[in-house]
Amino acid sequence: MNTIKLTTTEKNTIKSRGKSCLNHGEVALVGSGPGDAELLTIRAMRFIEQAEIAIYDRLVSDEILALLPENCERFYVGKEQAKHCVPQDKINQILVEQAKLGKKVLRLKGGDPFIFGRGGEEAEYMLARGVSCHICPGITAASGCTTYAGIPLTHRGVAQGCTFITGHIQNNGQLNLPWSSLSCETQTVVFYMGINTLPKITEQLVAHGRSANTPAALIRKGTQPEQKTYRGTLGNLAELVEKHNITPPTLIVIGDVVNQLTNKQLTTPGFLDASDYQQVNIIDQQSAQTA
Ligand code: SAH
Repeated sequence: MNTIKLTTTEKNTIKSRGKSCLNHGEVALVGSGPGDAELLTIRAMRFIEQAEIAIYDRLVSDEILALLPENCERFYVGKEQAKHCVPQDKINQILVEQAKLGKKVLRLKGGDPFIFGRGGEEAEYMLARGVSCHICPGITAASGCTTYAGIPLTHRGVAQGCTFITGHIQNNGQLNLPWSSLSCETQTVVFYMGINTLPKITEQLVAHGRSANTPAALIRKGTQPEQKTYRGTLGNLAELVEKHNITPPTLIVIGDVVNQLTNKQLTTPGFLDASDYQQVNIIDQQSAQTA
């Protein structure tokens, strides 16, 4: 096999053209993941280190904000549900204005900018006004939160696929979703922004044939120290929200994978304790034998 040998100058040229080099007047549209700073990509970290101004959302964790350079200006444009602190149009304008002032602009968003993050709209707006932007994926909530709760999104023989979908009501006030296709039992369904419409979601899924006994979970503040997982079934999930007064940011996970590895709250998010697993299995085997 022929290997291409690069001279030091060539290597340095590649480095200086570095894919993660944020120039003055450019924007880096960066996904910060669901909260745990250890889930940042190296590329995200490189942009964070170069930022002169960071324009960030509510879902960006304090742990990640603490990584911004000391002299980096901070601009909060977070939104509360249904109550936009800074409207999207205004955010778009701020990004362009700051880039045109010649700054190295970091647009930091929770999860992945292109998954229910309006990152595509921001990029379109900037490009149309001559502002170039680097784009950097982040670990989306569906992936980060379920993994840190011990839930595999797919599992051979259990779930062949997985859908990420929004439970946020549309502009017409309706929640029109492809209910039949979401009701297939070998598919995991993850709802973003679904906590307020949960009764409607569970009712429609059951009405379209998904069993009310399907395991389901709510993960609040996934990957963060306050992470909490509430497990139940499609039939009682809405009650859990009432009972525990569960508020956003919460992810809804529906499917048989929910109890595949554990049915417990993990003491340390992202850590599966082997002794717990053995205990659960021994108890399961004993109850199977006595049944
Ligand atoms: N772009 C983001 C999603 C933004 S939509 C991403 O890729 O993850 C906001 C919704 O994401 C929240 O209402 C919630 O459903 C979910 N979410 C984001 N971060 C979360 C977290 N740390 N824990 C639980 N849910 C989260």
